[in-house]
Amino acid sequence: MRLAPTGKNLRFYQRRFRQARMVARAIQSKHHPVLAHIIPMRRCNLSCSYCNEYDKVSEPVATGEMLRRIELLARLGTQIITISGGEPLLHPELDEIIRGIRAQGAIATIITNGYLLTPERIARLNRAGLEQLQISIDNVNPDEVSKKSLKVLDKKLEWLKEYADFDVNINSVVGGGITHPEDALTITRRAVELGFETTVGVIHDHGGQLDPLKAAERSVYDQILAERKPGLFAFAYDNLFHRNLIQGLPNEWQCGAGSRYLYICEDGLVHYCSQQRGYPAIPLEQYTREDIDREYSTKKECAPFCTVSCVHRVAMIDMIRNQPRESLFRLFPPEQPGGPPSLPPSVRLATSIFLPENGREASGARRLVRRAAMRVLGLRRGDGGTQR
Ligand code: SF4
Ligand code: SF4
Repeated sequence: MRLAPTGKNLRFYQRRFRQARMVARAIQSKHHPVLAHIIPMRRCNLSCSYCNEYDKVSEPVATGEMLRRIELLARLGTQIITISGGEPLLHPELDEIIRGIRAQGAIATIITNGYLLTPERIARLNRAGLEQLQISIDNVNPDEVSKKSLKVLDKKLEWLKEYADFDVNINSVVGGGITHPEDALTITRRAVELGFETTVGVIHDHGGQLDPLKAAERSVYDQILAERKPGLFAFAYDNLFHRNLIQGLPNEWQCGAGSRYLYICEDGLVHYCSQQRGYPAIPLEQYTREDIDREYSTKKECAPFCTVSCVHRVAMIDMIRNQPRESLFRLFPPEQPGGPPSLPPSVRLATSIFLPENGREASGARRLVRRAAMRVLGLRRGDGGTQR
């Protein structure tokens, strides 16, 4: 049970409030990016065999340039900025970059292989204002495919549990030639034991695409879903995207890359995502609201078998935004055929406040609650309408 909101707990509630505001703003308007990945460092200290996102030679991007890019992203209205790589902890002034993100009002998160974490480094990340850290762990023991291994990283996880003021997510993976698929279950169990959030991803090929899972991988995947306690969106995500992908079936969805999601490479160019670099490859300073609006509905041929989960998650917000009731049925299927969607309490509350009731005008009391909620969340309009 969570204690009274003091110290660490207060920061926990502040993060939840900022996340709720992010979702509310993303639902209110489609004209800004929800999430951007930025790359301050292409170099990595590891060499995972499936990875096409690192090199062994590049220098860190100058901190002043990173702060300029963060300001440009903030001007476009970007709500979450995730520092990725390569290995971002290799950047000598990472803390300044995190501070820069917070100073612009965006949510600051990082994806790291965790190798360089120490108690002192975690304390610095706390002080800089980091809000979430994700480590993807591929196996229990290092092998020729990956050295992102539980055996190597377990002490780092214990330090994170003890010292981190930010949310920690441990991502395990299935597919992609990982030698021991059952390792993903061991990793998930350890993460749950330490009290971290968990996700499970499917490893894509160099084009961001996926082969169907083999029987042993599928069995591990099902067991992970049965044992873990997923967050709200992880649960919905599994219902929607993974269910098809693990069977090798396509997903029907609108990829918002280049619009609701931006990938800013080390050269400061905007790309669709890490797997589709080269499109549209426009310098960030020249990227405009017109580009964002165009890419919102640009059809991407790679979408049906895409495994880039962060772009899927952003798309889920737009599904709710564009077709609220249909999407809630897809994301939270009814327990009984013909029944209502099985909404978690927080989603039920949010929908009762913000969504119209079968096209009918909301009652006076509900309008008052909606206006108050929008004011608390800092939304611009006082009438509860969306900026279409
Ligand atoms: S640690 Fe991450 S960036 Fe580095 S090689 Fe492995 S997957 Fe790629
Ligand atoms: S569908 Fe979108 S996120 Fe997925 S690989 Fe293609 S451009 Fe990237």
